[in-house]
Amino acid sequence: MKVVVNEDRCVGNGVCESIAADLFVVDDDAIARPQLDEIPADRYEAALEAVRACPSQALRISE
Ligand code: SF4
Repeated sequence: MKVVVNEDRCVGNGVCESIAADLFVVDDDAIARPQLDEIPADRYEAALEAVRACPSQALRISE
């Protein structure tokens, strides 16, 4: 599974990066970029937490 960022919704506030900096980095364009092609099993909960915490509902987990 992987995390997908809706770039039209992302406002670049870095909430996801603050939760899981290994999974997300906000780039110079103020868009969160996934850092891994696959979410490691032991980071799935952190990914879910970031999805839930994103105030713009810009994140989702995809198969
Ligand atoms: S928490 Fe959401 S809006 Fe904020 S940087 Fe991450 S994806 Fe973008």
